[in-house]
Order: sequence, then C-alpha cells, then structure tokens
Amino acid sequence: MKITSTNPSRNYELIGEIEVTTDQDISEAVTRARAVQPAWASLSQPERNAAVESFIEACKPRAEEIAIAMAKEMGKPIFQARAQIAESFNYFHAYMEMAEKALAPKVVFENDTEVHTETREPLGVIVCITPWNFPFLNIPWQAGQSLLAGNAVLYKPSEEIIVFARLIQELVAASKLPKDIFTVILGDGQVGEYLVQQPVDAILFTGSTRTGQRITELAAKTSTRVLTEMGGSSAGIIFEDADVPAIISTVYDMRFDNTGQYCDGLKRLLVHESKLEEVLAALRQVNATKKVGDALDEATNIGPLVAKRQLDLLKAQVQDALDNGAKIVFGGNEPEGLQGAYFEPTVLTDITFEMRVWKEEVFGPVLPVVTFKTDEEAIQLANDTVYGLCDFVFTTDKERYRRVAHQLKAGLVAHNNALFYSPHTPFGGYKKSGNSRTNGIEGFHEVTQIKMISEEK
Ligand code: NAD
Repeated sequence: MKITSTNPSRNYELIGEIEVTTDQDISEAVTRARAVQPAWASLSQPERNAAVESFIEACKPRAEEIAIAMAKEMGKPIFQARAQIAESFNYFHAYMEMAEKALAPKVVFENDTEVHTETREPLGVIVCITPWNFPFLNIPWQAGQSLLAGNAVLYKPSEEIIVFARLIQELVAASKLPKDIFTVILGDGQVGEYLVQQPVDAILFTGSTRTGQRITELAAKTSTRVLTEMGGSSAGIIFEDADVPAIISTVYDMRFDNTGQYCDGLKRLLVHESKLEEVLAALRQVNATKKVGDALDEATNIGPLVAKRQLDLLKAQVQDALDNGAKIVFGGNEPEGLQGAYFEPTVLTDITFEMRVWKEEVFGPVLPVVTFKTDEEAIQLANDTVYGLCDFVFTTDKERYRRVAHQLKAGLVAHNNALFYSPHTPFGGYKKSGNSRTNGIEGFHEVTQIKMISEEK
C-alpha cells in the first residue's frame, strides 16, 4: 500500500508517494529488535550516548533538507523548521548529560544486616506512535530517553509527514546506531494498529485522545504498558492586575504559532471583564504584524494547517460557534489569494459553554474568549474541560498565581512569560490529556523498570 503526501501550502500539490511498512516487515523488525536490545542495554552510558550522537551527526549535513521536508509536508514556516532541528539536538544532548544520574542505583534502606538497592533496567522493546505537529522534536521527545536508557525503539511518525519519515529512516541507516535498535516504521493508523499489537514491552503514544483510548483498549488484551501524551484544551487566565503589553505576545504565540497546532496551545482565553477591551485591542495589534503564507516563504509567520481534513474540521467548529451567536473580533475566513489549508488567525467572543470551540480541542488558529468576575469563576471555567494538559496564568500578584496554580487540574501551569519547556522539566497532563511524563528524571523513569536488589551484609 502507498501513502500520498501533499503540500498544504500549495493547493495540495503532490510531494511524493511512499510504500508503507508491511505487516511481515513489522513482525520481523520486532523480533530483530528483541534480539539486539540486551547488547544495547549492556553498553555503558557513554557508548550509548556516542551512538545516538552519530544520528545527530548524520542529520547535520542534511539539516536544510529536513527543514524543507517539514515545511512542505506539514506547513511549518521554514525559519521555525530550522530552529526546531537545533532545538532537537539540544534535547538529545541534555538527555545524554542527565541519563547516568537519572538511572543510577540508589540505596533505599539499610540496617545492621541488609541493604536494599533500587536499580533501573530498560523496559525492553518500545513502540513509539507519534503525531505530525513537531516532526523532528518528536524524535528526542518520544524516542530519546527510551534509546538512551537501553531500550530498542520502533518509531512510527504520522502519515501526514511520510516523506519526512522516510528521510529519517535513511538518516538512521547512515548513523552508527546498532542495526535494529531504532527502526522507523512507515504508515498510517492501520499500520499503527498492527504495530501496537506486536509482542512489545511498552507503547509510548503521542496524539489525539481518541487514538490513545483505542490503543489503550488494544494493549489491555496483552497487559502491555501504554504511556500516553494526548490532547489538550488549555486555558489562559488574564486577571485584572495583569500587565497586558508585557504578556500579549505570549498569549498570541501560544494560540497562533504553529497555526494553532500545539497540544499545549492556549485554546480558551478567560479575561477579567475589566480587561476585555484592552486584551482584544492588543491581540489585534499583534495580529497585524503577522504574515500568513506559504511555509517556504522566509517572511511567513503562520503557515497553513497540516491538511484539508484539519481545515474542514476547524471550519465546522467555527461555523457551529457563529450559528450559536459567537461574534468575530478578527479573522474568521480562509485568506484571499492563498490556495491550500489556510485559515486566518481568528478571535471569537460571545461564547457559550455548549459550543464546539469550548468543549472540543480546537487544533487551529481560533481563540474563543470569555470573561469572568471572580478568581473562583476563572478557576471553575479553566477546569471546565475533559483535558488537563496545561494552563497559563497572567497576573502580577505572585501569591494569587500560586493559589490559583494549585487549584488548576492540569499537569503544567505557566506564569506570565515563564513557560514550561526544558529537557529537565517533566511534560504531561492530567485527565484525558494522558498518563505519563517525558523529560527530566521522570521521563527516564517512565521508560525503565525498578529492580530491587537486596543484599545481606
Ligand atoms: P492522531 O491520534 O490522529 O495520530 C497520532 C498517531 O497515531 C499517528 O502516527 C497515527 O498514524 C497513529 N494512529 C492513528 N490511529 C491509530 C490506531 N488505531 N492504532 C495505532 N496508531 C494509530 O493525532 P494527530 O492528528 O497526529 O496529532 C494531533 C493530536 O495529538 C492532538 O490531539 C494533539 O493535542 C495531540 N498531541 C499531544 C501531545 C502531548 O504531548 N500531549 C503532543 C503533540 C500532539
């Protein structure tokens, strides 16, 4: 079976056609991964770091080609695609630095007669199922800590970035990673569904809550561990004491950057009623400085959505809001003069809590804004979602920030312009946003298991 890749910036013109990995090739890759994993696990940390470094070295001379593939296939503005590659290398390097300490044995109990040592061993063979919204960063985020901890990885990128995925397959082959330790699987959901039913030790899933639930159901049959990073509908709360000029770029970027296709994007804005006019005017001002356009155009800030199906879904969500009385502050249309999956950055007011833009995850450049009067009301509105990935709180009062942060049902909370992105900072959600953490020591602990070794003195 072949998957066709198209360019959402240029009226869906054909980019390429890729043959998917067959069921037989997947089964054989799992068997081979199982066979080589113990030798990989028995290497020293510096040896595993060096092998992963060789993948980075293989990517470096082809960085521009990787960036162009991301820009063409998913609509990532080219300057951001380049920056993503550099950031990915930083993540790998930080994980390398922290691995030894994170995985070191530790004595947890000792008396006159015995000593108990907690050690960490890799899970074994791990399947990673990944989305398209951060194509290159997903490699360190999903596979980096697993590989460095001594696991073998079968890594399936989304079908939306299949040409990019084949390029990564080539770069893995060009690296000095031991054969079969990191296998890139090419395919769509059907291929993913076959892959997650193979005899593996864990599945790391990043993607929509619907798919995560399906994979969890399938994995339950074999009691395979599933670690999920899923959808989000994060709130941003702007209190009456917020310094709007100081924070407005963060508010704008966390919603409209990456064409609104962030799992942890600021998807619902709650504004104290006294600040509404100031906030809307400031958002309009920032928006006037942004260019929507072809991802390969160096001047573009906001590219198209990843695909036509994503544009159609977004338009249906906006139409539902307009049919039920929402008002457009700016945007609301497909921009004139561009052909592809484009949608203008859009701000909506007069939102009711039955609207799809409030209840569902909106994966595109549309921001519903509601007002509140009290802190309690703001917290209740922020928590009014099945998701719990993150929330953003804008206030100059640190006491208030801390009080509110503790009442938000989310795995991550950010204050003003202090976000939560670092390889040292565990990333993950509450509720239907997932059950695991990547990054930091916790990220290493998720992909390893505890072996307690007690010893007589
Ligand atoms: P998706 O769920 O449609 O696809 C994700 C991956 O799952 C793809 O590789 C796809 O081929 C595969 N897949 C689909 N059906 C499958 C099945 N039945 N069995 C096995 N694999 C299957 O999600 P998407 O559209 O690629 O990504 C967008 C979603 O991902 C959004 O909901 C976003 O919030 C979420 N996301 C979450 C995080 C996070 O860290 N929490 C990060 C990025 C994206």
